Amino acid sequence: MAQSVRKLFDIDSGALSNPLNVLRRVWGYPEFRGMQDEVIRSVIARRDTLVLFPTGKGKSLCYQLPALCMKGTAVVVSPLVALMRDQVEELKELGVVAGALWSEQSPSEAAEVKLLLRSGELKLLYVTPERIAAGGLASMAGSDGLSLIAVDEAHCISFWGNNFRKDYLALGRLKEMYPGVPIVALTATADPHTRKDIVRLLNIPSAEVFVDSFDRKNISYEIIPRSNPKAQLMDFLKRHEGESGIVYCLSRKKVEQTVEWLNEQGIRAKHYHAKLDPALKAANQDAFRMEEGLCLVATVAFGMGINKPNVRYVAHLDLPASIESYYQETGRAGRDGLPAETFMVFGMQDILQRVRMIDEGDSTEQIKRIERAKLNALVGLCETTACRRQAILGHFGEYHSGSCGNCDTCTKPIETWDGTEAAIKALAAIYRTGERFGVGHVIDVLTGKVTEKTKRFGHVDLQVFGAGKEYNAAIWQSIYRQLLALNLIRVEHDEFGAMKLKEAAAAVFKKERSVTLRRDRTVSRGQRKPTGASNYSSRSGLSTEDHKVFEALRQERLAISRELGVAPYVVFPDTTLIAFATRRPSTPDEMLEISGVGRMKLERYGARFLSVLEFALR
Ligand code: ADP
Ligand code: ZN
Repeated sequence: MAQSVRKLFDIDSGALSNPLNVLRRVWGYPEFRGMQDEVIRSVIARRDTLVLFPTGKGKSLCYQLPALCMKGTAVVVSPLVALMRDQVEELKELGVVAGALWSEQSPSEAAEVKLLLRSGELKLLYVTPERIAAGGLASMAGSDGLSLIAVDEAHCISFWGNNFRKDYLALGRLKEMYPGVPIVALTATADPHTRKDIVRLLNIPSAEVFVDSFDRKNISYEIIPRSNPKAQLMDFLKRHEGESGIVYCLSRKKVEQTVEWLNEQGIRAKHYHAKLDPALKAANQDAFRMEEGLCLVATVAFGMGINKPNVRYVAHLDLPASIESYYQETGRAGRDGLPAETFMVFGMQDILQRVRMIDEGDSTEQIKRIERAKLNALVGLCETTACRRQAILGHFGEYHSGSCGNCDTCTKPIETWDGTEAAIKALAAIYRTGERFGVGHVIDVLTGKVTEKTKRFGHVDLQVFGAGKEYNAAIWQSIYRQLLALNLIRVEHDEFGAMKLKEAAAAVFKKERSVTLRRDRTVSRGQRKPTGASNYSSRSGLSTEDHKVFEALRQERLAISRELGVAPYVVFPDTTLIAFATRRPSTPDEMLEISGVGRMKLERYGARFLSVLEFALR
């Protein structure tokens, strides 16, 4: 560790061999989380290391902390400038000498970073993949050279995932270009295929691999059939007043319409999609970082650059492409470990839309088959009667015993019913109308609705016409979706969503197989009621009194963040403010005992927060 850093944190050289000391002094965290400790020891021992942790488990620390304990400068490869800057900002607030190099940077800023690099003072240098692949960083570094190379979002190197980036392929040469420098690759993408790709393409065959559980216990899951999407969304958002969150839509048009509508309803919302004017895009993304209580409505173009730890909710108004995408997108909530809620509405139309996107896409037939299988798995998750967490983790090959208590099927168990007779009718209606019609028409036939179309095709004369009058159209919709999820039928997009029977349907017809169906709920079943300006109190169990203190602390944090031009969470995370509000430290030493208060932050803002607390106690 550079002399200056050692002095700053009051760590003698002996303590350097003790990462826990560094964690406590610099970050102010009392303990390592999960497998951080083991990873850090592997990196400090200069071994190539692959880290597979879900979002929020604290991957950054796995290279940032070793960078402080090791000689030389650590280079961190990151796919997005926004991410790099965010991390550099956070490190600087901790008192760590860090910088970034990217192409559109001002020359003076770049010169300053290079100077620190040459002097060996720079502990962490963030760069884009192109920059490191261009070479020369080792010779630009001080006499101690490079300590390690961290490859963040390492899954971007794999074709397999949905975030492949061509510029990551160049990282395959790192081992040759920087011999002897350990590589730490990190990702939140768990699937074995991507994992193998990373090891192979980065050329780190003997990397130590660390895989943590992918369970995100603090995130709740809720998936309900779409009935009245606006009302359903509003119901959900009401529980999150004053909090930041993301609403995902499939199309740019829907993003724009949704934002407009939310603003009309008095909800502060901004939009983000790939085609947005770059300046506005940057401004909206920045607003999301800097402000509290903003709802960002976006397409999946908004994602990787989000470092904000206190995203309290993620809502999906359209079906994502796969369970992988769903988990990645919902995973942006609750990185700080505090409770976060996710919510999705879906319907038959979504499935059709996705089938169309796959069929019309330019992937090879083999990839399309995989994409269809992934979509099917997601539809299965939507229609499951079992614990959603168990189903999701099971999909990633991780065992969970179920009954998580934090998903909609667990908190409000799904009622099921014997739907064998209904299924037979539903299948018969498809068959008798020649497997040529979409769900809307077939339901008209079942419910005996006389329309121009049912007359024209002579369907009013069929035996199945009106045979399903005991259920309304919404229930038949639900039945068809479930038949799809059960793989008894499929839909053809190029025949306008015509439903076809699959082979397995025969067993149902012959009554060799019974069909259990779920009874749908279309009303969001959050347990919490709106609590006015902010829901933090209900969320973290703060008393009314503590909540007032918390709000005062939040105001102070916002003021500091404005003064410094950094995001509020860079000053202190919510978890730290909550601890201030409940434990009410009254001296700097008591403050240091709270998780998230390191030496540097205490020195910088300790007094300001102490005076807020003192005032609040009067
Ligand atoms: P990831 O990259 O895995 O999504 P981050 O590195 O962004 O996770 O960490 C998520 C949050 O957890 C950050 O706010 C970070 O400061 C915090 N964190 C990391 N390690 C610890 C720890 N040992 N104790 C407390 N908080 C931690
Ligand atoms: Zn559950």
